[in-house]
Amino acid sequence: MKNNNYGFETKMIHAGYDGDEATHSVTPPLYQTNAYYFDDVNHAKSLFELSQPGNIYSRLMNPTNGFLEERITALEGGVGALAFSSGHAAMFNTIANLCQAGDEVVSSRNIYGGAINMMGVSVKRLGITVKFVDSDDMNAWENAVTDKTRLLFTELIGNPNANISDIEKIAQIAKKYKIPFMVDGTFNTPYLCRPFEFGADIVIHSATKMLSGHGQVMAGIIIDGGTFEYKNNPRFPLFNEPDVSYHGVVFADLGKTAFITRLRALIMRDFGSCLAPFNAYMTLLGVETLSLRMERACENALKTAKFLETCPEVETVNYPALESNKYYPLYKKYFPKGAGNVFTFVIKGDRERAARFMDSLELIQNVANLGDIRTQVVHPATTTHSQLSAEKLREMDVSEGTVRISVGLETAEDIINDLKQALGK
Ligand SMILES: *Cc1c(COP(=O)(O)O)cnc(C)c1O
Repeated sequence: MKNNNYGFETKMIHAGYDGDEATHSVTPPLYQTNAYYFDDVNHAKSLFELSQPGNIYSRLMNPTNGFLEERITALEGGVGALAFSSGHAAMFNTIANLCQAGDEVVSSRNIYGGAINMMGVSVKRLGITVKFVDSDDMNAWENAVTDKTRLLFTELIGNPNANISDIEKIAQIAKKYKIPFMVDGTFNTPYLCRPFEFGADIVIHSATKMLSGHGQVMAGIIIDGGTFEYKNNPRFPLFNEPDVSYHGVVFADLGKTAFITRLRALIMRDFGSCLAPFNAYMTLLGVETLSLRMERACENALKTAKFLETCPEVETVNYPALESNKYYPLYKKYFPKGAGNVFTFVIKGDRERAARFMDSLELIQNVANLGDIRTQVVHPATTTHSQLSAEKLREMDVSEGTVRISVGLETAEDIINDLKQALGK
């Protein structure tokens, strides 16, 4: 795609694929191969020395993954991307690229329970300390920063309660202390908001969700905004000292692509959480219709949230596009096209009451997933956030009656009628 000024929808369909010399295939081909033959020994040598670009082995690069990476880079407005086997792999590998034992990360605490476990327990066991803060409390963010901090992290729209982080303000703190700022954009997708425009340096997605949308693959992706200056930053000896495992390269010398190049050349090479080319191909299929799906999903979500707000059985509806919501001003600031399709509502009564509602649904499925074209609900306290203590759940505002809904693309009346009949049970 030669014209970088094309609109979002055009990029969604054309970016990253300029045709295939060998076949003239209209659609991005699936290169289902794990390796690539060398023309001769000298060719192999020059590829390994990086004196000539080219494919070597699919852990490091695959053309189908490359189409996806370039397309998402274009949609987010970054300088490069790398696809991973899942959203969680994307998240872990960012931390692995920036931190070593003894380092620290500051993260919002109003995020996916799985991410809290990963960082609070497993990453901690590797000697990297993650401090969790209330994402709305800018003083808490700033107070948690030390000389050892290597990353600030939040979800733009938090899982499960759809709390919106004021990423422009968090980015200012990151800039003040010269720390990269990473935003998980899974709930918003680049169609609703592009965090680089508000000062984020790195964006990650679970492409398992709305980016692919069809609910058929696990996938993750990291996009580098190219905005962070690693050169001579005392927080990043990893980027400023010659790398013993990579020809003595000083990654900071690569400038705008330092982060993404080190991520591929070192972290993917060594930890290997690469995306299967077939899953990259499937994700690309989804991305081609992203704007249409997001538009309809946001429309259906707003109708559903407005309906739930009128139900006597429902205590609260946490959807930022409702004027009653605490995050309505931030919704206005960041989301001119809609607040996404995932939010929570609280059913009056105890856990049994919530269970009766969930079990009475006929169309809507009970699924530990979101961002599918099918409407799905889940009970966070017993599933996605079940490993968290009662105290942590309270901190996160997840109660016994909290139900998370991911609104799909079905006929809005059918979604609403199913909720209505189940609430009446
Ligand atoms: C699902 C999810 C993840 C994890 O992604 P996987 O693809 O399931 O590994 C991370 N962040 C958010 C916000 C998610 O919803």
